Amino acid sequence: MQIPDIVIAIDGCSSTGKSSFAKLLAKELGFLYLDSGALYRGVTLFAQEEHYISRMNIIRPELEEALQTLPLRFNSDNRTFIGDRCIEKEIRTMEVSAQVSPIAAVPYVRAFVDAKLHEAAAARRVVMDGRDIGTTVFPDAEVKIFMTASEEVRARRRYDELVAKGEYPVMEEVVENLRQRDYIDSHRETSPLCRAADSYLLDNSDMTLKEEVEWVKGLIRGKYTIYD
Ligand code: C5P
Repeated sequence: MQIPDIVIAIDGCSSTGKSSFAKLLAKELGFLYLDSGALYRGVTLFAQEEHYISRMNIIRPELEEALQTLPLRFNSDNRTFIGDRCIEKEIRTMEVSAQVSPIAAVPYVRAFVDAKLHEAAAARRVVMDGRDIGTTVFPDAEVKIFMTASEEVRARRRYDELVAKGEYPVMEEVVENLRQRDYIDSHRETSPLCRAADSYLLDNSDMTLKEEVEWVKGLIRGKYTIYD
């Protein structure tokens, strides 16, 4: 499918399947995939390891300066690195999930991540997923999707994901973490999670990944009158 140089923004609550969907879509379109949540997770891991978060969960203001030289990046395989260290596994743990939303609510953290995303998407032809991509990071994205799914489906997905990674999650804690992150993400002052008025809604509670991708490809074909 020959499509123009566009940005596809995918937003939605935690564990709605955004990243699997965005990854597969990017692969099928030959676009770059950018996982904005991975960058927030990377900042959180860094803040935890370097003690920029106190025992009382207070974020030390020195974090702002430390970010100026933090070599957080994606490699060519889309894996997240700090300098030469791959942090892909460490950023997906429950410990990081538990503190990522308060960190992501800090305005200078958001500015740091936004700058990285703009740098990586300079040539457009990207599929990017997050919470505020279509509203704040790329309000001019040509295609915006807002994903949703039932809480039960989302919790089960997150639980299975953690088990697959060798963790021993407790379902109640997984549900609680999802609710807390949704609450903080939707109520923060700086670019809260909300649906862009010009986005398409995708409820994938009862859809397979393949069906989701076919749905959006149909949408793109229609928008750009592509017949292949
Ligand atoms: O997408 P993922 O669940 O990995 O994102 C982790 C966290 O990063 C989210 O819970 C949210 O707090 C934050 N985030 C955000 N804005 C984005 C992407 C992620 O605030 N664009």
